Amino acid sequence: MGFYVFVIIVQNRYTSVTMSFLDRFFGPSYQKELTSLAPIIARINAQEAQYEIMTAADLKAASLDLFAKVKSGEITPDDALIDAFALIRESSKRTLGLRPYDVQLIGGALLHRGKITEMRTGEGKTLVGTLPAYLNALTGKGVHVVTVNDYLARRDAAWMGQVYNALGLTVGVINSGGSYLYDSTHIDKDAERDDVGSYKIVYEFLRPCTRKEAYDADITYGTNSEFGFDYLRDNIEFDPSRIRQRGHVFAIVDEIDSILIDEARTPLIISAPAQDSEDLYSVFANIARSLKPGEHYVVDEKLRSASLTNTGIEATEKMLGIENIYSDKGVKYVHHLETAVKAWALYTKDKEYVVRDDEVVIVDEFTGRMQPGRRWSDGLHQAIEAKEGVSVQRESRTYASITYQNYFRMYSKLAGMTGTALTSEEEFYTVYKLEVIPVPTNKKVQRIDHNDLIFQNEKGKFAAIINRVKEIHTTGQPILIGTASIESNERLSAALSKAGVPHQVLNAKNHEREGEIIADAGKVKAVTLATNMAGRGVDIKLGGPQATAEEAEAVRNLGGLFVLGTERHEARRIDNQLRGRSGRQGDKGATQFYVSMEDPLMRIFGGDRVKSLMGTFGIPEDQPIEMKLISRQLEAAQTRIEGFHFDSRKQILAYDDVLNLQRAAIYQRRERLLKRDRAEEQALETEVTETFPDLVEVIANKRIKFGDEVFAQIFSQLALQMIDNLWVDHLELMGHIRSSVNLRAYGQRDPLNEYRREGTRAYTEMLEAIIRRIAEVLPTIEPAAVAKEEELHQQQAQAALASSEGKLTQSNNQPIIADKVPGRNESVTIAKGQETKVVKYKKLEQFIKEGWQIVPK
Ligand code: ADP
Ligand code: MG
Repeated sequence: MGFYVFVIIVQNRYTSVTMSFLDRFFGPSYQKELTSLAPIIARINAQEAQYEIMTAADLKAASLDLFAKVKSGEITPDDALIDAFALIRESSKRTLGLRPYDVQLIGGALLHRGKITEMRTGEGKTLVGTLPAYLNALTGKGVHVVTVNDYLARRDAAWMGQVYNALGLTVGVINSGGSYLYDSTHIDKDAERDDVGSYKIVYEFLRPCTRKEAYDADITYGTNSEFGFDYLRDNIEFDPSRIRQRGHVFAIVDEIDSILIDEARTPLIISAPAQDSEDLYSVFANIARSLKPGEHYVVDEKLRSASLTNTGIEATEKMLGIENIYSDKGVKYVHHLETAVKAWALYTKDKEYVVRDDEVVIVDEFTGRMQPGRRWSDGLHQAIEAKEGVSVQRESRTYASITYQNYFRMYSKLAGMTGTALTSEEEFYTVYKLEVIPVPTNKKVQRIDHNDLIFQNEKGKFAAIINRVKEIHTTGQPILIGTASIESNERLSAALSKAGVPHQVLNAKNHEREGEIIADAGKVKAVTLATNMAGRGVDIKLGGPQATAEEAEAVRNLGGLFVLGTERHEARRIDNQLRGRSGRQGDKGATQFYVSMEDPLMRIFGGDRVKSLMGTFGIPEDQPIEMKLISRQLEAAQTRIEGFHFDSRKQILAYDDVLNLQRAAIYQRRERLLKRDRAEEQALETEVTETFPDLVEVIANKRIKFGDEVFAQIFSQLALQMIDNLWVDHLELMGHIRSSVNLRAYGQRDPLNEYRREGTRAYTEMLEAIIRRIAEVLPTIEPAAVAKEEELHQQQAQAALASSEGKLTQSNNQPIIADKVPGRNESVTIAKGQETKVVKYKKLEQFIKEGWQIVPK
């Protein structure tokens, strides 16, 4: 029969990953690193006897002694490594009853060196993290341990808190709903929550505290999004006593691939609806309409500026029914007034702009073309809308934003651990300069990874899966079924119910429940249906989380956990993650993927041809084949898609890098002003007087009038307000530039270069505007006006902070997404050479295959 030609059974993908893993492991680069650790491990082991005989009090005293030495700089963390690791090992033995294995010490030492350690699921990475966390916390500068969700942050802190606590160190937790400190005496037992094992030690020892207290702890556990958001929140804070974080010294990222790769496509953004009420624009539009050029304001056509005269200000105050616009209403009103006047004096309908469908559309001054979608910043567009009587668009304003990449790159030292990093080695290295080092397992791996079974169509695959599950289930062997989407998860669940197979479904985003369900997946007869990523970070023990030795043994005799993948994921990493659920700590276990020629991955990469071939040979649809050709094709498809996603993340990063330099500079300046840094205040004042020499006298007079201290205070407050307001405007402008360079990408110019060029220009203009705006306000500055403005400013910042917190809890801890991954029906622009076209996202892969590239938004 012809079809035998195809039946060439091959080692599947995972085996070959394991092979290259071993190759590399014994290859020179990893080997060198690991060999260098051997004597260190021996010395840690040699210390064991000494610490073993100490009383609890002596052990703590030894730890505090080490703490004092490292903190004072007498010895470095490197010098302290042997003792610190030996202390942690002893403390872990006493508190958790776990003696860290040598491979765990190796993992810990690699993390201390700022590497990514690839350690399989169940190797005890949570405990591994305590070694470098403790060691580096001895500097007193704070260590951040980053986890994928709130539940894991609490679990790990409460679990590992005992180890640190016995050594006299404090532990904090950052959650989206609150902050906690580990406190061995705090028992806040919630009636609904009973403790049932390591996966559920949750609130017992966690005492609520302030954010700042949690960051002031020696070691702080928290999620990636909360660490990132707190950084942004700190930088819109106006009261220095409320600053939460105290620096970014060392971060250990658990499940690092999930955080730095899978989530790296969604930047963190704090935004809130613009505070300005639309009425203000129409109030000022009416005032500006009644003011007379020459008398109330002077226009300078060349500079494109309009400045109000004293008569103009008085007339305005009269219309508003107030005494003094500066002291009564603050800078914001003045700015509104100026913008409204500008809208009247300098912008003419059908010249600078046109009015279309209730919208003000900008006309490009050089080409005369309309530019729909673009908006003038700084409230000018709204002022013109009010002037023309069209709807004033309320905008959601971005107060702060950053990508995960740039957040995590701020740490002086970064390290991470995961079961699956090697397939993304290149990305970790190019983006984060992080090297991946695989650490050998504690026990020999016994898991069997079967070859993929390939079916002609979805229907046949489904039927075969159900049969297989039924078959295994009757033996009692636990099965974990992984699905690529919630949709197929639900479909399979319905089919299993119909077939009479009881099972647990896991696709929700309730991490706490998720932890429990997944922990139970190793029990006899358990059938658990999960999306591939669900329950990451929770260990599946054979027999269940609290199984006796006999119960565990019984499941081991059944063959351990059987992992059945219902589809290959786009990234090999995610498939490996699923397989890694089985065979922990040398347990028995097996894995197998079921693939159909109708799976998205296969469809895109030439599955049809093979499918019709299989039909031609008369292979029944529920008959699988194992075929080298197809396996290779799958791998190629995965590698290609991985590369494509990597590219798109690189793009996002390349754009954010432009903003990142600006953000760092502005935040630094802001921080100094907030902390009343004299040198910074002086530098700013000098900049103002150098640009506007007339102000030297003005400032001198103000100094006499208010006194040096009061003047310095209102000056720095004023500067801070200007920086904040203009920075928010700038962020908006950068967003506009980003979309506009994209439009120009059709030409020869590189959009990124354009963005860089225009972004830098906009930044320089913003810096000038800060000085100019300060100079404008200085002559009329009064402490009362600044205080008034400060109040408004605080309200705004509070609104942004509140909305960042509100949104987080509302949307289930998902970060607020700006550059979200497009939906299947959303359009994207693609280009190949000079040609561009707009296609639906679901059609994208086909084009990518043909060499098209996405034009970044
Ligand atoms: P990982 O994160 O690597 O998948 P976990 O940190 O969740 O693994 O730990 C898995 C299980 O291994 C936990 O139940 C833990 O108690 C156990 N464990 C970790 N280290 C040790 C050790 N040194 N000795 C015995 N058990 C350990
Ligand atoms: Mg883990």
